[in-house]
Amino acid sequence: MTEGRAHFPIEPWALTETSIDHASLAVNESVFALANGHIGMRGTLEEGEPSVVPGTYLNGYFEERPLPYAEAGYGFPEMGQTVVNVTDGKLIRLLVGDSPLDLDYGHVVAHRRTLDLRAGVLERCTEWRSPNGRTVEVKSTRLVSLTRRSIAAIRYEVRCTDDGGDLYVALQSDLLANEVVENSGSDDPRAAAALRKPLVSEQHTGKGRHAVLVHRTKTSGLRMAAGMDHDVLTPDSANEELEVSADLARYTLAARLPAGEKLRLTKYLAYGWSSRRSAAAVRDQVEGVLGIAKLAGWERLVSEQRELLDGHWAQADVTIEGDDELQQAVRVGMFHVLQAGLRAERQPIPAKGLTGPGYDGHAFWDTETYVLPVLTYTAPEAVRDALIWRWSTLDLARERARVLGQQGAAFPWRTIRGEETSGYWPAGTAAFHVNADIADAVARYWHATQDDSFDVDHGTEMLVETARLWASLGHMDDGRGFRIDGVTGPDEYTAVVDNNVYTNLMAQRNLREAAAAVARRPEVAARLQVTDDEVAGWREAADHMRIPFDDELGVHMTSEGFTRHQEWDFDGTPPDRYPLLLHYPYFEIYRKQVVKQADLVMALHLRGDAFTHEQKVADFAYYEARTVRDSSLSAAQQAVVAAEVGQLDLAYDYWGEAALTDLQNLHGNSGHGLHIASLAGGWTVAVAGFGGMRDHDGQLSFAPRLPSRLTGLGFRVVYRGRCLRVRITQEQAVYQLVSGEDLEITHHGEPITVTSAEVVREVPPAPQVEPVRQPTHCAPRRRGR
Ligand code: BGC
Repeated sequence: MTEGRAHFPIEPWALTETSIDHASLAVNESVFALANGHIGMRGTLEEGEPSVVPGTYLNGYFEERPLPYAEAGYGFPEMGQTVVNVTDGKLIRLLVGDSPLDLDYGHVVAHRRTLDLRAGVLERCTEWRSPNGRTVEVKSTRLVSLTRRSIAAIRYEVRCTDDGGDLYVALQSDLLANEVVENSGSDDPRAAAALRKPLVSEQHTGKGRHAVLVHRTKTSGLRMAAGMDHDVLTPDSANEELEVSADLARYTLAARLPAGEKLRLTKYLAYGWSSRRSAAAVRDQVEGVLGIAKLAGWERLVSEQRELLDGHWAQADVTIEGDDELQQAVRVGMFHVLQAGLRAERQPIPAKGLTGPGYDGHAFWDTETYVLPVLTYTAPEAVRDALIWRWSTLDLARERARVLGQQGAAFPWRTIRGEETSGYWPAGTAAFHVNADIADAVARYWHATQDDSFDVDHGTEMLVETARLWASLGHMDDGRGFRIDGVTGPDEYTAVVDNNVYTNLMAQRNLREAAAAVARRPEVAARLQVTDDEVAGWREAADHMRIPFDDELGVHMTSEGFTRHQEWDFDGTPPDRYPLLLHYPYFEIYRKQVVKQADLVMALHLRGDAFTHEQKVADFAYYEARTVRDSSLSAAQQAVVAAEVGQLDLAYDYWGEAALTDLQNLHGNSGHGLHIASLAGGWTVAVAGFGGMRDHDGQLSFAPRLPSRLTGLGFRVVYRGRCLRVRITQEQAVYQLVSGEDLEITHHGEPITVTSAEVVREVPPAPQVEPVRQPTHCAPRRRGR
């Protein structure tokens, strides 16, 4: 797929397309996707065409397929999981006289689609002249309910805007299963085959304006039902008809439209799936939900949506003074993060959310390390659910650890249901750090919420089982250092290495948090048969963790020996050879000093408590010169550390790159789904970067400083039942509680008590810094200043 990008006018609370062009179609389908964590609908037009990837997804609903190996090995996962494009309920086709509305034909007089970030709806208004000269205005509003997770709805209106007399129109509102999709999002032909017609019909029923289709996947055996019902308002005489067959339910409304009059159709959609329940039970569930949707009615669904979002923005908004483009991008990113996670409820949050088929719909460490930190401080209830989903996969993770000859639990690198589905060992199972990332998210959630029941029922168990993994994966060497060898850190250009600093420091925190949880919850420890000796072993391993340092260069080695590897020839690498993994053999990449994405630099952020300021400055400069950002996960992390070490304008450039990843299609693949982790980075750079917020060991600290271009930055975070507002200018920071009891924090190291009255502190000048450099062709695009 070749993908371009659209140009969106700058607006504070919306994202608008003002024309349709094929180059940006796929990207706009992703950025205009609506989701609630359970249902996801790409932003295709109601009439279905033109479109590139017409996806509708149900979180956790996938098809299985054999994983291809030229040469298999012990412990390689055998089955893959791929997200399925389920029954499409977005379709409402319009016939104007005898011409189907299709923006590729006739004449588009005006077109506008807006994603409204406060209303949580996608609005469209198109005026179109058919090839035979009749003009209509089509308005639609689409929502995927954030308050009722199984419901979506579309209001669709047609008005005749010419004076050619009465117009005859027909609307065909469909439920379509096994839609033909050219771009499955997977390069693997077996995945494409599995997805060609993934749904087997089990039942189809319909009556009046209402129909339900029930299907099952062939191999994974998951059942799903999609239902639709309609309310109509016709100006004049109309005919209605319903046809229902195995893969298509169609409600047709034909009407005579006198000039200026409008026809209105409200379509209610309900979705459900189950791995256990019968076809009848899944159908009945969807029937019930549809009944509720219709009873609630369109206006209520719309007003609930807005109310929920008003509440969300009141405790989560980020305001940026001095850069309207970033203001828009950061809010769009936060909106998509919320859509990805708010109602996932015991299902994963995939790397693309529910916005496209990219990465087969898998969840990675992106969830715990990039998305959950944002949600922890803006929508903590979603984090609870996401972590309970991980917990629900513990038995699979225990089994995986057993297969790998380890203790405890080994969570998968990529998955939908919980099994490891990565077929590439060095950048899959070997990336054991995902276990510490999960533990980190658990600990962060605990510190930020003090949610006792979660801690007792789920959190402590996850901390214990991941600590057990580290205790068995590592070993004490002769020099009494605890080593974790043969693993891959976040940087996938350096694989299967010893003592990766990020992994070891995150494992260290994991071991310590597990020890603390066990002390806090002796009843859970007893149930899990944790012994005193075991906990002593965790503490010892944590205290003796190996952290490789190059004394000669005065910097940390991202992993043992890294700084001794040959340098990559950046000057001899033309810009069109990036991403390197598509143009150079892995053996070349692995043995040289080239970094795909922040790794040691991530440790400087997430385990900043383990480094001195001087080490951060030196390490950042060293790795900055070797990091090529072939992953969209990198820029935000580099920004956070750049801001901390005083490279404020560089941090600002990276902020733009992270937040605009999809709006500007910077990686050329946003059409297959949004880069949710990178979008989450828009918030992270504001709050952890320029706000300097850290939460090491449950102590909230801030060290705000703005880049030269900004005049102000504001954000709100929720923490232990409070909502804290922070406003920063070039000179000052103002802290204030919007709700909740007084809170102890630090401002640039100074302890302060935040109350409902404003507490104002000076922002100290940034430390003097030496300029840093990036590899040739890899400097971030500078944001105007
Ligand atoms: C990155 C991983 C990431 C994955 C999914 C890869 O390119 O290297 O760190 O988890 O994409 O976003």
